Amino acid sequence: MRIVVVGAGMAGVQTAVALRERGYDGEVLLLGAEPHQPYDRPPLSKDVLLGKAEHSRFDIDFAGQGIELRLGSRAAGLDAEARLLRTDAGELAYDRLVLATGASPVTLPGQSARTHLLRTHDDAVALKGALRPGARIVVVGAGWIGAEAATVARQLGCEVTVVEAAPVPLAGALPAGVGEAMRGWYAEAGVDLRTSAAVGGIVDGDVRLEGDPGATVLLTDGTELGADAVVVGVGARPDTGWLDGSGIVLDDRGAVAADDRLRASADGVLAVGDCASFPSARYGTRLMVHHWDNAVQGARAAAANALGADQAYDPVPYFWSQQFGRMVQYAGHHGPDDELLHRGDPADRSWGAIWLRDGAPVALLAVDRPRDLAQGRRLLERGTPLDPALAADPSVQLKAAVRS
Ligand SMILES: Cc1cc2nc3c(=O)[nH]c(=O)nc-3n(C[C@H](O)[C@H](O)[C@H](O)COP(=O)(O)OP(=O)(O)OC[C@H]3O[C@@H](n4cnc5c(N)ncnc54)[C@H](O)[C@@H]3O)c2cc1C
Repeated sequence: MRIVVVGAGMAGVQTAVALRERGYDGEVLLLGAEPHQPYDRPPLSKDVLLGKAEHSRFDIDFAGQGIELRLGSRAAGLDAEARLLRTDAGELAYDRLVLATGASPVTLPGQSARTHLLRTHDDAVALKGALRPGARIVVVGAGWIGAEAATVARQLGCEVTVVEAAPVPLAGALPAGVGEAMRGWYAEAGVDLRTSAAVGGIVDGDVRLEGDPGATVLLTDGTELGADAVVVGVGARPDTGWLDGSGIVLDDRGAVAADDRLRASADGVLAVGDCASFPSARYGTRLMVHHWDNAVQGARAAAANALGADQAYDPVPYFWSQQFGRMVQYAGHHGPDDELLHRGDPADRSWGAIWLRDGAPVALLAVDRPRDLAQGRRLLERGTPLDPALAADPSVQLKAAVRS
């Protein structure tokens, strides 16, 4: 039997490793489009960008585990009926195929040569070269990546402006009231945050300074921001374009529409990580989760199911972000109709938020409150109802806020 895994990021690598952990002794081929040894992405916007680490390669002996790594090899098409994968180096037959091609950053039209994305090791190295003390850095997008890039740029002594089209930071992920509480973090770090500021274009050269080789970020209200480098962090889309014409069903966001066992619409094909979505019975909706933990946990389920198990995948999603000297952690999934409880005062160093549905927690945000996260995650997994007054009191441990 031959199992081919496409994409050598966290989800693909963990799937390959989990196949071996489960005792599978057939062929495992791991295809990665990038030329580099497989690596982890979260450090790219943290220690690698800061210069504390040179790389974030996984410490895995692929050959020793009998995993055949084909780097610099891109899948270009799929004949699911014939179980044939088309790659830039020819066709590959498979018995099981695991799609783990991740996501690509959204780009803005008319980007100048001074524009950087932050998704790959090469992106991080290129951006690091631009983060010199005193450099004018404009970050487009006050999301997770934008906030982390701004944090590091300030630590390296750059002048940083963040422009965000929405009225508050993290508008795509958190309610306005919660995102608003993070505005002060930018000011405190010396970052000029401009919200409700949409970018109309980015052009080469600072149009205000003749002969300046930098770039200009043009806002739709007519403002021109000169920059030595521009970082665009406005989201990522599943890397699934290569599946066009394969018959693999995608959802409306372009993710492989997997089932609750991470099986794609063709026999023998599974999908995991940033490139996939799956129906969650826990939250009553289809989830596309672009976070590290989903790539790790999903891989275990994908590997098991590729080997014939019948394992449902319905996690409590989790992620963390390190920004402006804070550890921000979120677990679960909330919707607009869930009841939001604030836990503590955002003016304080540590605070949080909890979302309840029918009295039970469905999501939790913890800012510098790791104990809340640890206890809350267990409560989320069990759906244990909470006493709202106790849960909103930051001096009460979450495990003690259980409704009696
Ligand atoms: C800078 C950065 C910081 C992050 N920080 C955090 C964090 O702090 N916390 C957190 O929870 N999450 C974080 N994330 C998100 C997390 O890293 C991702 O969710 C995770 O990497 C997803 O893993 P994946 O394997 O699904 O996709 P990817 O890591 O994107 O890997 C997919 C791989 O597939 C390859 N590929 C694509 N198309 C093809 C093809 N056709 N053929 C062959 N190979 C292909 C790609 O080159 C890529 O290497 C961060 C992401 C980035 C970019």
